[in-house]
Amino acid sequence: MTRTTPPSIHPGQIGFDIDGVVADTMEAFIRIAREEHGVTVHPEQITAFQVEDCLDMDPAVVAEIFQRLLEDPLGAGLQLMPYAGRVLREFAGHAPLTFVTARPLAAPIAEWLRAMLGEEIHQQMRLIATGEHDDKTRHIKEMGIRYFVDDRAQTCLMLEEAGLSPIVFSQPWNRGRHHLPTVENWLAIRALCLPHDDLREAETP
Ligand SMILES: [Mg+2]
Repeated sequence: MTRTTPPSIHPGQIGFDIDGVVADTMEAFIRIAREEHGVTVHPEQITAFQVEDCLDMDPAVVAEIFQRLLEDPLGAGLQLMPYAGRVLREFAGHAPLTFVTARPLAAPIAEWLRAMLGEEIHQQMRLIATGEHDDKTRHIKEMGIRYFVDDRAQTCLMLEEAGLSPIVFSQPWNRGRHHLPTVENWLAIRALCLPHDDLREAETP
């Protein structure tokens, strides 16, 4: 990986959405749809944030899968995005991690983060579950961070309008829907914040 600009964001200035950024929610959705409902979905078919808008799937099944991911992310086998764990553990060595999710329930995803990142990081992290996509701006401002990584284009555009610096985590459902700075993966997020030196790309995620 080649970096053209030096890292400029302190890890304490950046916050993260959970689903579609920290968590590989699409993988879990596709897996549960296939294994438990016999429905085959390909990642490139998910071209809208509201998956029922782009998939020919029973809305009740879609709702059931998302409810499961909301209430029991560990039991549903929700996984971290590639390299997210390694990069977040590294960031946590510089500043407490900040997460702002539109999920309405904080406890299940807090447990999931504890399982994924460990007790110490869990104790120090800040996690807000807004229950509402359009309420993220207020919480992000209150938490005193400037940069925020999210996969929902509409959320990022709203944050930009509020004077914050959103970074879009590239996903099939946000491509071509914005003009904002974009990252393709967690190694790119890392490069925005930390120098290249101690990055060992050969390591497993
Ligand atoms: Mg998201």
